[in-house]
Amino acid sequence: MTTLPPTTAKIELRHVTHLYVTPRQAFMAVKGIDLRVEEGEFICLVGPSGCGKTTLLSLIAGLEKPTAGKIFIDGVEIKGPSRQVGYMLQQDYLFNWRTIEENVMLGLDIQHIRSKETEEYALHLLEEMELINFRHSYPHQLSGGMRQRVALVRTLTCQPDILLLDEPFSALDYQTKLKLEDLIIETLRRHKKTAILVTHDLNEAVAMGDRVFVLDRNPGRIRKEVMIPPHIREPLPFYARNEEGFTTLFNQVWKEMEASSHGTD
Ligand code: ADP
Ligand code: MG
Repeated sequence: MTTLPPTTAKIELRHVTHLYVTPRQAFMAVKGIDLRVEEGEFICLVGPSGCGKTTLLSLIAGLEKPTAGKIFIDGVEIKGPSRQVGYMLQQDYLFNWRTIEENVMLGLDIQHIRSKETEEYALHLLEEMELINFRHSYPHQLSGGMRQRVALVRTLTCQPDILLLDEPFSALDYQTKLKLEDLIIETLRRHKKTAILVTHDLNEAVAMGDRVFVLDRNPGRIRKEVMIPPHIREPLPFYARNEEGFTTLFNQVWKEMEASSHGTD
């Protein structure tokens, strides 16, 4: 056991276990998860399908209450969804009958924080993501990558400190995905956000993450934590892939994934 430093983590999960209970059975999705995420960190979760990645994000978002254990944000136990946490999914959930600008402002309306100032911030983000010229367009007029950028803007507009990203790139073509990876890292660093990304792409996890967690399933547990060294962590993901040692780390994560998928050590 390592001794934890006396500082408050941005996110802390203490012995988190979650069961899904249906009238016919109870299923243990995750068991005994301990996880500390420091402010400004970018964490990646990988693991076989059904190992509880989405469950963990839903718990941190306060959408599900853990069956056992506690989750803290800034040292305060969470009791439900909060504005501090933004959640972005694989599907962009844009409304086709609203313009891009109206889709983005919707986040502000839902949180009841729409004002001249927050609207200006939203427009600023649209500009940063090179979407400002499309503000009056409709979602169907945009490419998949652009739509995901709009979804990201909508999430950031509410100024969450924490971003939870559940496979946001998986429906995109490879080139768009690489560009969006860099854009997300740049934007989150600039705005000093803490993030947890779920991905099935191990290469992406090593290129983007400060730390990569490989999960096991039945029940979902942390199998392995892989630390990404500074020379791979610091450059943008596109360049991180060319750094020495990248392939070794990828192979390490791959091996853990293989063992995890086959339920062996
Ligand atoms: P992942 O995102 O890693 O694929 P999930 O967190 O979605 O995994 O699911 C973990 C396990 O919990 C899976 O076996 C899934 O079938 C089960 N599960 C997820 N959501 C529910 C639910 N609402 N009710 C019952 N079982 C669920
Ligand atoms: Mg999932």
